[in-house]
Amino acid sequence: MQYENTPISSNVEDRRGQGGGGGLPMGGGGLGIGAIIVIFAISYFTGISPQVLMGGAEIIASHNGGGAPQTQPVSTGPAADPNDPMRTFIAHVLGGTEAVWATVLPEQTGVQYTPAPLVLYDGATRSGCGGARSAMGPFYCPIDKKVYLDTSFFRDMKTKYGGGGDFAYAYVIAHEIGHHVQDLLGILDKVDAAKERVGQTQANALSVRVELMADCLAGVWAANANQKWQILEPGDIEKALATAQAIGDDRLQTAARGYAVPDSFTHGSAAARQQWLTTGLKSGQVASCDTFSK
Ligand SMILES: [Zn+2]
Repeated sequence: MQYENTPISSNVEDRRGQGGGGGLPMGGGGLGIGAIIVIFAISYFTGISPQVLMGGAEIIASHNGGGAPQTQPVSTGPAADPNDPMRTFIAHVLGGTEAVWATVLPEQTGVQYTPAPLVLYDGATRSGCGGARSAMGPFYCPIDKKVYLDTSFFRDMKTKYGGGGDFAYAYVIAHEIGHHVQDLLGILDKVDAAKERVGQTQANALSVRVELMADCLAGVWAANANQKWQILEPGDIEKALATAQAIGDDRLQTAARGYAVPDSFTHGSAAARQQWLTTGLKSGQVASCDTFSK
């Protein structure tokens, strides 16, 4: 992948090297009972899910199984170098998605694009959708409108999932930004509302459609980015397709279910993922990504 000509995004929020909590008030076994009562009271009156309000508390609860005093996760190293190659690469890819969607989204849908910040973290951090942990895989949080990415996921793609390579990583980021595009188009809200009215099986089927659409939107980004900056090199598409196959549900299903986190749900079969990524790549058109009517 040739990414050097794509613009560099200023929306990378680097929380690496800050320790597992990312600023969370860790230690002491989590929230006191008073805090929890307050949270449920706020939740009752505002209608906001207590899970959302408790945010990072989930990290504490799930790690100590309740009761035992919590040991604070240790910082994994010095503060991240802002010029490290991984961060530079991610800033280029994110900048590329921002430039493409800033023109393609209004042109094709009449909706303005507002960029989504991308949070880089290591181990654990908090998100608007609850605690983020590396085991969850990358995800988009529609509440704070940010993408969360633990860079160990890219290492795992290479070592455990046989994926890897620049364009495969770019595809993962473009997929998450695809969820942000769905959010801007009002699709995530509509799907959430529809899920309230159906059973679990149908709700899962709707989630799969959301995921496949994000794959297709990643393809739309790649097609337009390639037109602008000739990013694609021989073998890139094949690598992305292999990645679509490799990062199926297994890893993402180990995630603790956060609130309204699209990637905590099933992603569809490898064949369907490949098909939709290809559809977006070939057309370059948002309209070709209507996974709900096909
Ligand atoms: Zn997804």
